Amino acid sequence: MAEAAEAMFSFDNSYARLPDRMFAGVSPDRAPAPRLLAFNRALAEDLALDPARLAGEEGLRVLSGARLPAGAEPIAMAYAGHQFGNWVPQLGDGRALLLGEVLDRAGQRRDIQLKGAGRTPFSRMGDGKAPLGPVLREYLVSEAMAALGVPTTRALAAVATGEDVVRETVHAGAILTRVAASHVRIGTFQYFYVRQDREALEALTHHVIARHYPQAAAAPVPALALLEAVMARQADLVARWMGIGFIHGVMNTDNMAVSGETIDYGPCAFMDAYRDAQVFSSIDAGGRYAYGNQPHIAHWNLAQLAQALLPLIAEAEEEAVKTAQAAIGRFPDLFKAAWLDQMRPKLGLTRGAQDDADLIAALLTVMEAGGADFTLTFRGLADLVSPEADGQAARALFTDPEGFDAWLARWRARLAEEPMPTTARAAQMRRANPLFIPRNHRVEEALAAAEDGNLAPFKRLGRTLARPFEAQPGAEDLAQPPGIGQSVTRTFCGT
Ligand code: AMP
Ligand code: MG
Repeated sequence: MAEAAEAMFSFDNSYARLPDRMFAGVSPDRAPAPRLLAFNRALAEDLALDPARLAGEEGLRVLSGARLPAGAEPIAMAYAGHQFGNWVPQLGDGRALLLGEVLDRAGQRRDIQLKGAGRTPFSRMGDGKAPLGPVLREYLVSEAMAALGVPTTRALAAVATGEDVVRETVHAGAILTRVAASHVRIGTFQYFYVRQDREALEALTHHVIARHYPQAAAAPVPALALLEAVMARQADLVARWMGIGFIHGVMNTDNMAVSGETIDYGPCAFMDAYRDAQVFSSIDAGGRYAYGNQPHIAHWNLAQLAQALLPLIAEAEEEAVKTAQAAIGRFPDLFKAAWLDQMRPKLGLTRGAQDDADLIAALLTVMEAGGADFTLTFRGLADLVSPEADGQAARALFTDPEGFDAWLARWRARLAEEPMPTTARAAQMRRANPLFIPRNHRVEEALAAAEDGNLAPFKRLGRTLARPFEAQPGAEDLAQPPGIGQSVTRTFCGT
């Protein structure tokens, strides 16, 4: 009995202690007929939660919003943002609420959020609900990203609510329990900057520094050190996306977490055939968030963060602008270094050479010309390290393999500058080049089955994507690009 009375979560809600105009108190809707669809036991353990209790009856009530666990202080956070470059002064959590914060096993503070549990003061015209498809999609893709080694929000649970959610058609409703290092976005800073609310801006800056960048507190200008630290994490994050062919799809400033985690899995997608200008999102008509544009958008978004921090960078505006511009101007170099750090190991390179960026760009050029699959081309390179390898499997990925042959010769010459036993090099490369990514056609297939009540493909895909760098007997089909007629060319936000 004593055990049952113990709190399910040891919440310590630091955001709820900030000035109360930074959020709104809310309460979740009670799902009429909750049913657990997916539960992340390993993550629950990392969060020092009791998985059995959380996945049981009592947990289901919490994960569906029916019952608030002891210590929860549910709030919806205020934020603003640039959506596709257009300024929107008020967005905020419209279909998400922060239950509270816990300290994980490593002592790191993590947000526990319910997404799709009903309206908040920031919902505007929306219903605050989420359809099953997008919830399972975020579950699958965010967990795949984590397994791929990319900083990301995590998925603790997905629950069907038993309620209909009406979009263009009627869908089953669901709630995702999202876990994040924090949910502070660039747009959170913008919200207070445009309101000239210096007190809140300072409180937010303080909070973020203490939580994510404690070393910035000791810097001569902490806000500037914060900006530089966020720039470094964003450079690393976007470089990791580029290294696995990930297209976020909706890099609005309200969808960029200052922690450096990937957040907001709306219309995101992985490329099959490589194309620098690839776009999947149905609402990105101009290609603003195309694969190859992501580093530029990250830079643009960081400039918005810099602007929002101006009042804290220097008292004199002119000086603040000069300092911020100088910092932001360093992003392209920062990104290029981060990108090389991601791409070199993919080519089996351990040391840097002057021509590496060009060598990588040359591979991408022949891949694009030959319509080659991004993931399988990189994965296949490990089999080509030895000059004796015939390369037929990799060549078959290209409509016109001659360009690839020429590149191969150049690459092997470069490898010779860094001698290493072939098997060791190949093994290293397989740890840098995944075999399994959440391919759009497989994700869509799994979600369609789930909508029909069959969760088996979703579970199988999730299991496979948990070990993306390992060949898995029986899962070969999930590594393959879409066949004729299987290709998914459009993705939707699904809000
Ligand atoms: P997103 O496109 O998912 O980044 O969302 C942009 C804004 O719309 C955020 O403020 C969301 O909270 C809000 N929003 C998205 N979907 C809904 C919904 N179904 N109900 C209420 N607000 C929503
Ligand atoms: Mg969003």
